[in-house]
Amino acid sequence: MLVAKTGKGTMINLSDKQWEAQILMQLRRKEAFYCPVCENPLDLKIGSIKVHHFAHQKNKTCSIETEPESEYHLNGKLQLYKWLQGQGVQSAKLEQYLPSISQRPDVLFKNRNKYTAVEYQCSVMPASLFSKRTSQYKKAGINEMWILGGKNTARLSSHTFRISPFQWLFARAGEDPLDPPFIPTYCSKVQAFLLIEHLIPFSKQVFFSIPRYLPLNQTAISDLQSPKTHSIKSHLSKWIHLIKSHRLKPAVHLQREMILLQKELYEKKQTPLSHLPAEAFLPIKTSYLFDSRICLWQTKILLFIDQIQTHTVFTLEEVTREIRADPSTKVRDLTHLKHLTIGAPILEYLEALSFMGMLQRVNKNKYVKQKEITWQSKPADLLKRDELVMKLFTQYK
Ligand SMILES: [Zn+2]
Repeated sequence: MLVAKTGKGTMINLSDKQWEAQILMQLRRKEAFYCPVCENPLDLKIGSIKVHHFAHQKNKTCSIETEPESEYHLNGKLQLYKWLQGQGVQSAKLEQYLPSISQRPDVLFKNRNKYTAVEYQCSVMPASLFSKRTSQYKKAGINEMWILGGKNTARLSSHTFRISPFQWLFARAGEDPLDPPFIPTYCSKVQAFLLIEHLIPFSKQVFFSIPRYLPLNQTAISDLQSPKTHSIKSHLSKWIHLIKSHRLKPAVHLQREMILLQKELYEKKQTPLSHLPAEAFLPIKTSYLFDSRICLWQTKILLFIDQIQTHTVFTLEEVTREIRADPSTKVRDLTHLKHLTIGAPILEYLEALSFMGMLQRVNKNKYVKQKEITWQSKPADLLKRDELVMKLFTQYK
């Protein structure tokens, strides 16, 4: 913590000025410090390496604090606070305790007469606590801005991240909920944000992203509030690479739903998972609605279309009902995002298939099957077809 109450009841903020260690040592001899939240005594830690800070005494638990603060977190909180002060906001307060909702955000700022609580989270916390805090801010009419500690992110390649269910809690929708969401992360070591934008899950935890690196001093608040809209067109090779890995390096441990899909595919189409049609890997922008591999829900739709005669009409509702009834297709937890239903990705998918000539839309939400699906291809042809289909797809979106 960087703010404490003295015995006289005044507040002392260690970020206010450049405190000399000498001065703080004198102060420590004269004064006692207390937690503004739980009133328990605090120790003043004068750091030569770590930033000066207050800490609860051992075996004194605070009513809202759950763990000791790391240097990484303390530094980040301080940097974000100073950055906000320089953003021309009406006010920015460090560790302001809000008794009515028993919360103490890292920074609380007021901009255009609206309060926003910044929570810089560098350690894993229970999802229930996350939801509780979020709903309490909402109740108080305060926007919440959760920023994930950059050191906690698992970047697998330039365009892929492993996103755990905990990290997914940080996902935010942009202005348009039909655009892919993003996760704001901040690293206090390099003093920069990494905005993990345009998130499209490839598997349950491996997400494709078009990330954006923003040094703190070049970032505006609005960058964190609404992400940049990207087109996947100029990043297509990275997406195709994911499909290629799926084809050439089959997973050793398949999830139960994938084992079932493998079985179904073999029975119905004599096709292994590695030979799925390219159309089972379309980077649909609202794919995040599904908590499953992208090829799983798309193959399920392809199998539905497959059993329909060509030139027969079917509706979006029929497909949605079928997918909903399928126990393998799971819906992602979206409590903190704007509420879309899986009708959104399914509609986007059917529209893409129509653009590509497999279907034809005849009416609002009504489609006619135009062509049979190609299930069997030689491995070399598959890879060529992936390129063709993905290029065609980007002409659509
Ligand atoms: Zn306390």
